[in-house]
Amino acid sequence: MSNVFRNIPSVNELLDSPPLRQLVERANRNAVVSGVRRFLDNLRNDLQTAAADIKVPHPSELAERIAQWIVSEETPNLRPVINATGILLHTGLGRAPLAESALQAVAEVARGYASLEVDVPTGERSQRVRDAETWLKKITGAEAAAVVNNNAGATLLTLAALARGREVIVSRGQLVEIGGSYRLPEVMEASGAKLREVGTTNKTRIDDYQAAIGADTGALMRVHASNYAIVGFTEQASLAELVALGARHHLPVIDDIGSGAVQDLSSYGVSGEPLVGDSVQAGADVVLFSGDKLLGGPQCGIILGRKALIQQILQHPLTRALRVDKLRLAALLETLRLHQDREAAERSLPLLSLLSTSAANLQQRAQRLAPQLAACPAVKSAEVVESQGYLGGGSVPSQSLPGWAVALEPARGSLDELAQALRIGTPAVFGRIHKDRLLLDLRAVFPREDMRIVEAVQQIQTHPSGEAVPNAVSDEAS
Ligand SMILES: *Cc1c(COP(=O)(O)O)cnc(C)c1O
Repeated sequence: MSNVFRNIPSVNELLDSPPLRQLVERANRNAVVSGVRRFLDNLRNDLQTAAADIKVPHPSELAERIAQWIVSEETPNLRPVINATGILLHTGLGRAPLAESALQAVAEVARGYASLEVDVPTGERSQRVRDAETWLKKITGAEAAAVVNNNAGATLLTLAALARGREVIVSRGQLVEIGGSYRLPEVMEASGAKLREVGTTNKTRIDDYQAAIGADTGALMRVHASNYAIVGFTEQASLAELVALGARHHLPVIDDIGSGAVQDLSSYGVSGEPLVGDSVQAGADVVLFSGDKLLGGPQCGIILGRKALIQQILQHPLTRALRVDKLRLAALLETLRLHQDREAAERSLPLLSLLSTSAANLQQRAQRLAPQLAACPAVKSAEVVESQGYLGGGSVPSQSLPGWAVALEPARGSLDELAQALRIGTPAVFGRIHKDRLLLDLRAVFPREDMRIVEAVQQIQTHPSGEAVPNAVSDEAS
């Protein structure tokens, strides 16, 4: 035992080694010293507790591994990634990428001060979401608008302001869970409104809503089932029917449309996505949607509706708790401006350009990538396959998009190991495991990223099998 400990070089000896000297030059010396100490502590600990004999690596190799460990420890988990999952609006990967001009707008207001709540000509105080409201009205035809932190926040605020302590009637078939953490019944409870479920999972008629209306009713609500579909023997009351019923009983109709398409997406093969403008036109009193789904903007929740209702909503104290900052407003404004003109939107908004990429284009790119990927040491085979991409935006995406992928088989080890090696590499690449292969689906990959995928796969180290790496020097050491 003690012999093994004697093989561990001193901290000073290690700091004198080339890899750690280089690290000291780039980083802070104290941080490197503390990293070396922590690593050696872990190593001693492992040597003491290990059942079998562990060899301490040669000092030069040990120094190399310590340097790598310190670097990896300092790399934040949040980093840019290449999305080869085929899911366009992947919540785990940050949903919609922003337009270049939206990024510039963010940088400009972030660098210094900005007239966030000041009317420029008069110098008087103004509403921070005023410009966004102007654009939203113009694009959607709504009477008034507000912007908050996200759609969950928009729903919470709307229900708290309009229906606290009263019943909100919702169809059983629309009580959705999105992304595992968003459940309408829970948001409703937090808002102080009472959920009144009507109908059955597959059928809810307008008469069901009608029968549930009473003295306690505060609103009627419709929720777009964005991440699942009830098929077969189904029926849901239409928005027009709900609007007519609401008007007869002086009850607001709240329409949570989820992804919030501003442009008609049917030419891209996406059908059944409700358009924001259609909801407004059909007479919904309040329309709710996310800013970072099909709008292609920053995370935010958009509330459109009748002027009196929006004013009532804005007076609620939660408005302040859910407000958006200048960075997101700048990105949102520029995104909305791009939506004025469909062609400009398609050219400039990354989400729309990815969505409008033809399957033939994806196939060609997959064919160019496959032989280069097949030539990488970590890869046994790389085959061009047809693959379904998804719109996403919820946990179980339902809208599928025609597309192409390169399907990889690992040269060594398991598929999960290959997928992990790609995730932790530089650049980080996220694929999708499907039928015993790792798919690199091109639907959500920008053409400029194609060659970076090849670089990422080339860089994967393939350890010859049989080389046991002691625990203490792996990334899990801490
Ligand atoms: C995505 C979604 C939400 C939640 O929106 P966030 O912006 O993630 O808070 C709520 N309702 C529906 C119908 C959705 O699709």
